[in-house]
Amino acid sequence: MQVLSVTPEIFPLIKTGGLADVTGALPAALAGLGVATRSLVPGYPVVMNALKKKKTVHHYPALQGGKAALHSAEIAGLDMLVLDAPHLFDRPGGPYGDVTGADWQDNWRRFAALGRVGADIAAGVVKDYRPDIVHAHDWQSAMTLAYMRYGEAADVPSVMTVHNLAFQGQFGASIFAGLGLPQQAMALDGVEYYGGVGFLKAGLQAAWAITTVSPTYAQEIRTPAFGMGLDGLINLRSPDLYGIVNGIDDDIWNPETDSHLAATYTSKSLKGRKANKRAIEERMTLDRDDGPIYCVVSRLTWQKGIDILSTIIDPVVASGARLAILGSGDAGLEGALLAAAARHRGRVGVVIGYDEGLSHLLQGGADGILIPSRFEPCGLTQLYGLRYGCVPIVARTGGLADTVIDANEAAVAAGVATGFQFAPEDAGAFHHAISRANALHAEPAVWAAIQKQGMKSDISWDRSAQKYAALYRMLLSKRDA
Ligand code: ADP
Repeated sequence: MQVLSVTPEIFPLIKTGGLADVTGALPAALAGLGVATRSLVPGYPVVMNALKKKKTVHHYPALQGGKAALHSAEIAGLDMLVLDAPHLFDRPGGPYGDVTGADWQDNWRRFAALGRVGADIAAGVVKDYRPDIVHAHDWQSAMTLAYMRYGEAADVPSVMTVHNLAFQGQFGASIFAGLGLPQQAMALDGVEYYGGVGFLKAGLQAAWAITTVSPTYAQEIRTPAFGMGLDGLINLRSPDLYGIVNGIDDDIWNPETDSHLAATYTSKSLKGRKANKRAIEERMTLDRDDGPIYCVVSRLTWQKGIDILSTIIDPVVASGARLAILGSGDAGLEGALLAAAARHRGRVGVVIGYDEGLSHLLQGGADGILIPSRFEPCGLTQLYGLRYGCVPIVARTGGLADTVIDANEAAVAAGVATGFQFAPEDAGAFHHAISRANALHAEPAVWAAIQKQGMKSDISWDRSAQKYAALYRMLLSKRDA
């Protein structure tokens, strides 16, 4: 089976969030199940620079205002099709905006082009290649499915995966003329969205199946509180809606081999974690003691509940715990955390920035990881925490609810607890969860049992890949029915 994955990000080349981890890891996991994946990605500078041996498989004399080419290449073990369109993608800054973070004004053009090319590939524009399934990720890829629906590849089964419904790709009605879609597409059951054009909306409407990255989030997005304006449509499409939890990349996230750690360790012996804890204390200028260190590795945003965290730092510090926080994001939240670090020298360490190595060290040495997200489609950091024996303390929402087993008395007695959950989403409940963690941390045997149980959780890509492969097969039988 041949799957074309269309994605704006792919690890290890270009990553702003969990989406890249998924699109980077799924191909290898699917390969073992008889599913061959080719990934169509924009030719950002980092991608073009990684292109060594390439074969040009198609030329566009004019694509959204300029010449473009499609190259086939293997990069980092991934089978890729790269959309080389310098007028759209050859620019400094991030994949979606300039160095200040301001969105590129022509994002609609950039990702309409990606979608157009995805649909062309589905229709057979690349010689000797015809995908059986097209799998689009997030709004940046969603127009692929709209172009397929109104073009020649309407009979190719498609999957739309929503990694985060908060990002929808909404544009004014005036861009419609530039999309090159038939007029009938500008309709309620097409790409039209609240009077403008909605890219994700168009993909949700056109997809044969919709997936999101956890069963709980799949249910949550059917409600107004989580649906972000799309709950009506998602409810209509609920017979075709699936929740599949992400896995993690075992080669990159493995405490037995991780070169970012001061000391590696196994689930049998967690001894090495101590050296990592000492390394964290040094790196984040924290006092040295045996009380718990709770870490945060996160975008510092409202979604991630960082404002809630900042309101309870004082009582958490008073309880004897230390905090090691790595992240970047909203300036106000960064400022609040830095102020807390200044207030609590030796007890609260804050590093503002993106640091892959430090994120590994924190998972490998901190006692727990705090994840107070207001919504969390899947979440990866709690999965890394489980794998590393860094006990997750999480809001009971989305993928966090699906992957962490709360250490209530019954779960502890049964030996199945892997972390702590709290609800509702407020400072009181969050603080209470941390207090429960403190209490169990003071009982080393209980804490070690929770850590080891978490490390046993099956969070491999194999499990998720089996579910995607089953979904693909179901769609093929629907096509053939
Ligand atoms: P989201 O995609 O919503 O940001 P996820 O938990 O799904 O949240 O994925 C976040 C990914 O980004 C994880 O791999 C996490 O380790 C990483 N990450 C987030 N912030 C940082 C940071 N400041 N430094 C290093 N890695 C980070």
